[in-house]
Amino acid sequence: MKTRQGARVAVAGGGAIGSAAALSLARAGLAVTLFEPRPWADNASGVAAGMLAPAAEAVFDPISGAHLDLLRRARDLWPAFAEGLALPILRDGLRVEGEAAWLATIAARFTALGAPVERLEGGKALLSREDWRIEARPALATLRDAALALGAQIEARAFTPDDLEAFPTVVLATGAARDLGLAPELAVLTPIKGQILRADRGPAAGPVLRGEGVYLCPGPRPAIGATMETGRDDLQVDPAATEALRQAALRLRPELAQAVLATEVGVRAATPDGLPLVGWSAAPGVMLAVGARRNGWLLAPLVADLVAAYLTGQDPGPDAARFDARRFEKA
Ligand SMILES: Cc1cc2nc3c(=O)[nH]c(=O)nc-3n(C[C@H](O)[C@H](O)[C@H](O)COP(=O)(O)OP(=O)(O)OC[C@H]3O[C@@H](n4cnc5c(N)ncnc54)[C@H](O)[C@@H]3O)c2cc1C
Repeated sequence: MKTRQGARVAVAGGGAIGSAAALSLARAGLAVTLFEPRPWADNASGVAAGMLAPAAEAVFDPISGAHLDLLRRARDLWPAFAEGLALPILRDGLRVEGEAAWLATIAARFTALGAPVERLEGGKALLSREDWRIEARPALATLRDAALALGAQIEARAFTPDDLEAFPTVVLATGAARDLGLAPELAVLTPIKGQILRADRGPAAGPVLRGEGVYLCPGPRPAIGATMETGRDDLQVDPAATEALRQAALRLRPELAQAVLATEVGVRAATPDGLPLVGWSAAPGVMLAVGARRNGWLLAPLVADLVAAYLTGQDPGPDAARFDARRFEKA
């Protein structure tokens, strides 16, 4: 199904995926209306650490190990996607520190995945140069503003089934929402609550640091993350859940003991195989772009390209089948 040039398309959801898709569709010449009911960036995408991290994800998140090739391709789309935008891509890589036995396990995982890793300081740390990052919250505003500059419009409300009359084509980039009455495929999504600490001091630049059970992502408010609370979709702050993160961060950088920490909470959406649903729903006119789990920022340009390809009648390319939105339907 192809949408003609200039046709009206709705994108529901102003997170990383919806904002990237809206921009790519506007770049392709479609008339986009982006629906978002919440204050801008008040979602998982705004809370995220902003790592574009194929290596770390493949090494530290077992379900992503099988998708390293795809995660690398997604990362490599970022420079062209961000060209001309005030959206710096920081390429300082990933530094892993910890006890010798644990570091040896992690080094072996890198090797098993075929991911290059350097041993630093006589083997006291590992460095992977594969991972990049962005500043997530400002990036959301940048993507929105770039889409607006190309003629996209924003509706500060939820997209509902009644809107299908005015917008016969809608891209659902609605995060962890499962019961919108718009697409049966959303039922496969599992919410995974994530709590992340933001410090008022700590490393402002340099590589992302990983220790056992924690990452420390540099920036103006360094991020210490993150919990993975499968099946939870509430936004309650729970200090008991983040205490282990805090302790692990202090082992990594004891000077963080002086930092004031604030907790932020977001809900990721996951599918059974860890990859998003991207493509046409069984519901007419509904395109899915949901379920990016821990990698919504990393995958955003790839998902946006796929959505734009489907809606403009282009070949969506070799990754489309792995993201097929209907792959979990019973045969
Ligand atoms: C603590 C934490 C750290 C993370 N760190 C990283 C990281 O470093 N790198 C990375 O790549 N990923 C990271 N992630 C994952 C990433 O945040 C998600 O994969 C990503 O945010 C998903 O983006 P999204 O646009 O699909 O969903 P969301 O950001 O959840 O946005 C969905 C939007 O849809 C809106 N919406 C819902 N229903 C409707 C409707 N009916 N109409 C219109 N709008 C609607 C919601 O209000 C929301 O704004 C992290 C996540 C968490 C929680």
